[in-house]
Amino acid sequence: MWSALAVTRQAVTPITTIDVSQAGGFGVTRLTADEQGVPALGYVVSYRALTQALDAALARTRTAVRYGVDVRAVRGTPEHAIVDTDADVPLRAQLAVVADGTGAAVQGVRRTHRDYAQTAVVAKITTREAHRNVAYERFTASGPIALLPEGDRYGLIWTLPPAVATQVLAWPEATFVAELARCFGARRDDFVAVADRRSFPLALDYARPTAVERCVLIGNAAQALHPIAGQGFNLGLRDAFALAQAINGTPPALLGTHGFIARHVARRSADRHVGIRFTDGLVRLFASDHALLRWPRGIGLALLDALPPAKRALTRTMLFGP
Ligand SMILES: Cc1cc2nc3c(=O)[nH]c(=O)nc-3n(C[C@H](O)[C@H](O)[C@H](O)COP(=O)(O)OP(=O)(O)OC[C@H]3O[C@@H](n4cnc5c(N)ncnc54)[C@H](O)[C@@H]3O)c2cc1C
Repeated sequence: MWSALAVTRQAVTPITTIDVSQAGGFGVTRLTADEQGVPALGYVVSYRALTQALDAALARTRTAVRYGVDVRAVRGTPEHAIVDTDADVPLRAQLAVVADGTGAAVQGVRRTHRDYAQTAVVAKITTREAHRNVAYERFTASGPIALLPEGDRYGLIWTLPPAVATQVLAWPEATFVAELARCFGARRDDFVAVADRRSFPLALDYARPTAVERCVLIGNAAQALHPIAGQGFNLGLRDAFALAQAINGTPPALLGTHGFIARHVARRSADRHVGIRFTDGLVRLFASDHALLRWPRGIGLALLDALPPAKRALTRTMLFGP
């Protein structure tokens, strides 16, 4: 799939540098792909191009796919997973894999929920100068702001208190770009246009455990994270990859059994807990507007910049997981 995506116009934009700084405080660090010996620190992928590539790959297999079906409930019995839908009779399977983004479809899963009382305003930003594959993470009093190179524009993720986000969504374009430039200070000030504004409420929400009888949860259904570290989708892909490997390596008669599910849950446990703790820790440290936190934050950024091994270790965790 990647080779198909890579040759599709503007489907994939590499990030070769990440500039991390904070407004109203000292401390700046730049992470680069060259330092890591990798072609890119990450890629911004068009969601439309990704789903088209996935659908095309699926169509080449002998998988039966039903689109547009509303799943009402998924439950497990010792013999089967049962999927109730808005269409005809319930589906039965040895194993149901649930990727509904919330886990709401599955009965009997306990969840931990922490509302961050923050909203992400996302938009496309045009700048006067080309982005040259540089991403920005800027910590401000109202929350972190990320600018990610995407095609010939920037994708913006602006974390704000919900009431402020409502105002920001309604600002005239000139106010929006001027305020964004004010938040970025000297790091970047050539914003000229904003388009496609949308918003998402932010929370940490994860299943404990990520399975019930005959059902496994993956992606955001297993754990929905704050986007501060760009880990959520990556963690979901690793959930899917590990499950696919487990299914391929298991005799068909044993799919979905207690042993199969317990092994899968155990295998994913460390990666997901590090992802949850790492992201939640960053939110506590960086999403707060408490002036006392600016010092440790600044010291952290300055130290990171002065200590290449620490910078390399952090970057590799963010690139490849723990
Ligand atoms: C602002 C923002 C920025 C982000 N940035 C990054 C980033 O830089 N890097 C990163 O790795 N992650 C990032 N993430 C996280 C990433 O977007 C999610 O982790 C990922 O989209 C989750 O994918 P998913 O398929 O598990 O769930 P979803 O994308 O929520 O998909 C769930 C699907 O299930 C369908 N569905 C739900 N209920 C039912 C039902 N009852 N019946 C039928 N269908 C149903 C929905 O329609 C939807 O299509 C970001 C998230 C946000 C909000």
